[in-house]
Amino acid sequence: AKNDMSRAVCFYESNMDETARARRALAIDLRQAVERGELSLHYQVQTSVSTGAVCGYEALLRWTHPERGMIAPTDFIPIAEENGSILAIGEWVLRTACRQAASWDNDHKIAVNLSPVQFAHADLAKLVHHILVETGLSPNRLELELTESTIVADKFRTLHVLRQIKALGVTIAIDDFGTGYSSLDTLRSFPFDKIKLDRSFMADVERSPQAKAIIRAVLTLGRSLEIPVLAEGVETHVQLAILQVEGCNEAQGYFLGRPQPIDQILLAGVADSVP
Ligand code: C2E
Ligand code: CA
Ligand code: CA
Ligand code: CA
Repeated sequence: AKNDMSRAVCFYESNMDETARARRALAIDLRQAVERGELSLHYQVQTSVSTGAVCGYEALLRWTHPERGMIAPTDFIPIAEENGSILAIGEWVLRTACRQAASWDNDHKIAVNLSPVQFAHADLAKLVHHILVETGLSPNRLELELTESTIVADKFRTLHVLRQIKALGVTIAIDDFGTGYSSLDTLRSFPFDKIKLDRSFMADVERSPQAKAIIRAVLTLGRSLEIPVLAEGVETHVQLAILQVEGCNEAQGYFLGRPQPIDQILLAGVADSVP
């Protein structure tokens, strides 16, 4: 039994080594991903629940690794946050999204995700201002999405930076709402322009009365605070119909549109102009 155990431990450790090695290799490649042009943005449409009209697009980061192909953001963003390359990557995302949106012949918003690390280590408001001037994007067309992990990291600093960013005319959305642990306090103290309800509630809504009750409660909360609510992860027409009945403002999800490369979005004519 002792032998079995040590063999098991040995196997486990060599597995760990491999995971750690793979992670280290990715971390090194990530540092060069921006310069090598391996990053791109996909865009996912956000629509009005009552009219079906396009409100905006969320920019979602994609990394095409030279050997491993497409790597999901959930697999590389934590590594980029750990080794600091998220700063260069995040700046690239912001600049690219603003530049592309500025070339569209309409007033759709562009939503960009921010990492907590970007709040902690950079003069974020100055960078946002600089990129808006550089790209010519109207500030009211830019929306920044942050999760509660950003707020939890440093509440006072985040609030300070958010106020500076809002003073530019940029709007702020709280992402993955309902999954953090200080949601209500957060809503009270932070100047959010939109609540993005986490997609886990949508995933359960058709069979779970609890999920539906929570969606309803968040919509009521949003109405009372006068903050529009966007439901994430809408995958079926039944889910969309529920949102219509409940009076949700906006929706996003595979049923309305998958994240797509910019040329697909432009081809579909939704972004109106081909630069
Ligand atoms: P998120 O901000 O919550 O983005 C929504 C994620 O849900 C996206 O995954 C999107 O493809 C996926 N999704 C959209 N509709 C549906 C649906 O109907 N069903 C399901 N099951 N999934 C749906 P993606 O693109 O893999 O991104 C994952 C996460 O990576 C994002 O979650 C965000 O936290 C992070 N991320 C993506 N791009 C960036 C970025 O530029 N910067 C930072 N800091 N984080 C990013
Ligand atoms: Ca997001
Ligand atoms: Ca989200
Ligand atoms: Ca998420």
